[in-house]
Amino acid sequence: MTTAATETAIDEIHILWTSEGMSCDGDTVSMTASSLPSIEDVVLGLVPGLPKVHLHNKVLAPEVGEDFLTVFRQAAEDRLGPFILVVEGSIPNEQINGEGYWTSMGNDPLTGQPITLNQWIDRLAPKAWAVVAVGTCATYGGIHAMAGNPTGCMGLVDYLGRDFRSKGGLPIVNVPGCPVQPDNFMETLTWLLYQAAGRAPMIPLDDQFRPTWLFGKTVHEGCDRAGYYEQGDFAMDYNSPKCQVKIGCWGPVVNCNVPKRGWMGGIGGCPNVGGICIGCTMPGFPDKFMPFMDQPPGGAISAALMNIGYGRLIRKLRSITNRTVNKEPKWHHNRPELTSGYNP
Ligand code: SF4
Ligand code: SF4
Ligand code: SF4
Repeated sequence: MTTAATETAIDEIHILWTSEGMSCDGDTVSMTASSLPSIEDVVLGLVPGLPKVHLHNKVLAPEVGEDFLTVFRQAAEDRLGPFILVVEGSIPNEQINGEGYWTSMGNDPLTGQPITLNQWIDRLAPKAWAVVAVGTCATYGGIHAMAGNPTGCMGLVDYLGRDFRSKGGLPIVNVPGCPVQPDNFMETLTWLLYQAAGRAPMIPLDDQFRPTWLFGKTVHEGCDRAGYYEQGDFAMDYNSPKCQVKIGCWGPVVNCNVPKRGWMGGIGGCPNVGGICIGCTMPGFPDKFMPFMDQPPGGAISAALMNIGYGRLIRKLRSITNRTVNKEPKWHHNRPELTSGYNP
């Protein structure tokens, strides 16, 4: 995806983070576990070259009520200065809300009526320097947008459109995951902050608006268990260290770096530690990956091919070679003769 780079350097910026969509606040909580960099380092100005950052997130803010809302109201009136809008949670369809509303943040002082999330997005998104969707709910609809839902909810690109461009000239930036991997979000935010400061080029995004360097590989390509898969050696229950494709892992077709990156401080990463990949980063999540613990359709074929043909043969040959290389050469001995092949 190509877009024009922004040109003006920003030295102070606000982050307006709303989780008033269909959200569990899980992405906010996840983000607090980041270390590359940590949110504390960014807010305290400890990362060289970034603009000064003011974070406004209801879970982390000391302010409540109207005090918390003040910056949102200022931004909606274009009186705040540059800001990045972060949206967490899926966007309900307020055109089908009957006589009520689905979700809101604060009230309109003139009417006393709730201001819906959708109204906030309508007011804030065009004024934001950049707009970021965090978590799979905000990016692609996620759990709340699954078949049979009553709210008609959707992701931010569905709501604002693929052609949306922020004030800074950026498309929506999607960082999916349920929840988002902490460092994936902070790394993306850090890129955007460097870009705002004029120190980074346009963030590279794929056709689903994901940072390319984070979502360009599959789970399978980074999985600790891939060696078992390649040898056709499969787990039949959840206590096994072997490849989990027969017990529900979708890793071969899912874009996610979590097995490589881990969850916190490099530790964890679903299949690496025994959790099947259920595709939580994907636009088709959850419906296209359900029922979660069944073998994926393509998994049966690929597992059979690996097990019956190539995998079984290679495993046999490797076990023979493994026994050979586990023995020292025969000229390592304590007899009174030299048998190493030395030939002066
Ligand atoms: Fe919660 Fe997952 Fe939705 Fe984030 S993506 S708000 S963690 S349900
Ligand atoms: Fe691939 Fe999943 Fe097996 Fe890992 S556990 S090797 S991701 S199929
Ligand atoms: Fe989600 Fe699969 Fe990535 Fe785990 S490995 S975070 S289940 S996409």
